[in-house]
Amino acid sequence: MSATTEPPAAPLVGATWSEDRRGWYFAIECPACRRRHTHGGGRHLLGADRLLGHRVAHCADPLGYVLTDPAGLIEAEVRRVTTERADALA
Ligand SMILES: [Zn+2]
Repeated sequence: MSATTEPPAAPLVGATWSEDRRGWYFAIECPACRRRHTHGGGRHLLGADRLLGHRVAHCADPLGYVLTDPAGLIEAEVRRVTTERADALA
């Protein structure tokens, strides 16, 4: 058995719009330190899943982690926002 050097997965626990940052951000529970870190998710939620993947940890962990979205939070936000806009137009 060899020692693993693969960065661990860090599933999203939130995909949230920030008015202050004028952009989306992704929240994860850090697999290394168990604190919550956030990473930029860009200005456009459609296609934001391309921003998943390896990130440098916001703590001292040298491996970083891989942002994943197994619960489909990005897709759920896309659906929610799309529905709200459709309601506003009706
Ligand atoms: Zn951390």
